[in-house]
Amino acid sequence: MKNDRSWTEIDLTNFEDNISELRKFIKPDTRIMQIVKADAYGHGAYEIARKSIKCGASYLGVANAQEGFLLRYQGIRIPIVILSPSLVNEINIILENDLIPTISSYQFAKELAKQSNRKINIHINIDTGMGRSGFEYDSALKEIDKIKKLPNLFIQGIFSHFSSAENDLEYTEHQNIKFQKFIRNLSEKPELIHIANSSGVVTMNSDYCNLVRIGLLSYGVYSDPQLKEKIKLKPVMSFKTRISQIKTAMENDSIGYNRTFTSSATMKYAILPVGYADGYDFLLSNKGKVLIKNKECDVIGKVSMDMTAIDVRELDVSVGDEVLLLGDQSEMFRAENVVLNYNGSSYELLCQIGRRAKRYYKENGEIISSSPLLRRDFVSLDYSDEKLNTVIETAIEQRLQSKEISNLVYSEFLKRFFAEHDRDIHYRRNFRHYIEFNEHKFAELNQYFQTNTTLTFTKVLQQDYFYVACANEESKLEKYFLRPDVEYRWLIDKNLGSTLFDLTSVKINDIELYHEMKMTDDCLEIRCYHPELKNLKGKEVEFSISTQTFYPKDLHQLAVYLIELTQGAEITFNFGNVLESAEAVPIFSGRSKFPSITCGKNEITISTQTDEWIFPTSGVVFVY
Ligand SMILES: *Cc1c(COP(=O)(O)O)cnc(C)c1O
Repeated sequence: MKNDRSWTEIDLTNFEDNISELRKFIKPDTRIMQIVKADAYGHGAYEIARKSIKCGASYLGVANAQEGFLLRYQGIRIPIVILSPSLVNEINIILENDLIPTISSYQFAKELAKQSNRKINIHINIDTGMGRSGFEYDSALKEIDKIKKLPNLFIQGIFSHFSSAENDLEYTEHQNIKFQKFIRNLSEKPELIHIANSSGVVTMNSDYCNLVRIGLLSYGVYSDPQLKEKIKLKPVMSFKTRISQIKTAMENDSIGYNRTFTSSATMKYAILPVGYADGYDFLLSNKGKVLIKNKECDVIGKVSMDMTAIDVRELDVSVGDEVLLLGDQSEMFRAENVVLNYNGSSYELLCQIGRRAKRYYKENGEIISSSPLLRRDFVSLDYSDEKLNTVIETAIEQRLQSKEISNLVYSEFLKRFFAEHDRDIHYRRNFRHYIEFNEHKFAELNQYFQTNTTLTFTKVLQQDYFYVACANEESKLEKYFLRPDVEYRWLIDKNLGSTLFDLTSVKINDIELYHEMKMTDDCLEIRCYHPELKNLKGKEVEFSISTQTFYPKDLHQLAVYLIELTQGAEITFNFGNVLESAEAVPIFSGRSKFPSITCGKNEITISTQTDEWIFPTSGVVFVY
């Protein structure tokens, strides 16, 4: 966050608490459909989907086939219902991704039945007064009978939708009764019957239904102030930024487009690097408030596309200070209260926020993961999966000039980083490995050089510990290559015990870590940890790992591998005065296959530009 211009924090613990609160209003056997349309109201569909599954949701609701496709692509397996009517040209995406379409017209049902070659689940939408999509109430029974005659379609659910469950009980009741009557008149009841959105869950009893579709309230936003008396909700999203500039306006100076604000006296004001393109609504011009060091400040002048000015005359602030725009514990900054400033809609505010912001996910107050902007629209509508795959593969193949390696890089690297894993791309930066051979005075080890190594790199800290591993056989060391919590591995000569591998220093930033050794299956595992690391989790930190060991003289080669995605590398082999010379044979894949090689008097260094990407597995063999 330190480097972000603006960011959102998504508190998954609050989300879980809201679900528990909502559960108090539903029967234990009623199922939950978590609504994750519009990227889960701006909270991140994938992460919310995963969390809601953990909280017991059995269905997900999206707005269109593309949103469902993206979730499938990211590995979500539970049933996904598309709530809006789909278009005929979306049928192939629906079928390929096993999505459940909502049927609002016979025409669409017929086309769907025609294109499908297997039985697929559908939900039927009945308009009981929402006046939007869905079959017209009076003719719906007849339409359902027609649909039943079509091949390949299985009516899994029938539903309706409340128009004003948050504040018009009378009308909601009217819709509820209508729908209940409709269900009673069905000759055959489907497995799932549903009408309530999250407000309906709290305000209306629909016990004849067995599924609820929850959206807004699960995100901790009140749809109406009256609901506060009934349910306790905690906001899930916060939107934050930092002061980017501080200025002084003289009396009568105007601030922002079209001079809508003029200062009445000399005043200090600050510029925030967010505007309506970031989702900070234009209508907050001259109306919004932000929170800095627990003090409210007014938005002055018009919110522009990329910047907003605020009044800080009463405050002692500096560039870089954190600014709360929405959310957190502050009552005034709850979405429903922010929109009161301009008579807006909290649904709208949430789903427009953070178009340029990275999201950080929190659980129990700690950042557990983040999602970059890039991944949100990785699957572009214009590209079929297949086409996209081919483009990427060909691009990599061109670069690497090897079909085999490009396949590997593609499948192991891109797919893993973008699709399957729930993580941001983790990579090492400023990778530096320094290896030094020395003479020593241990007679029994005269066939070995004493070897000192220092490895430094920067990376986002994932846990408050990590491991260094050492073994004397490649096969034993192998399992450590797969483990993300192992930062360094060393293969020691098979005639040496791993006790001759020693960590001389392990640091993160300037903290010297504790280490604990343990032997398991003939491997030496060293756990490196420190209580202070807890505070650094999720932040980019500098690792520094120094070792001392021994290396066989007669091996005549020493290999160093980069097994993680790395940006910028420098690997130095210093042979002091124990060798006359050495050569380096780099095996690199990435933007350049040929790092530069510099030879000193008794050392040899290979290096890339600091911003250059190096793919795993690259490396260098020093030959002596
Ligand atoms: C968006 C939506 C919901 C969720 O509504 P909330 O008011 O956010 O709980 C439920 N059902 C349908 C059909 C929807 O489109």
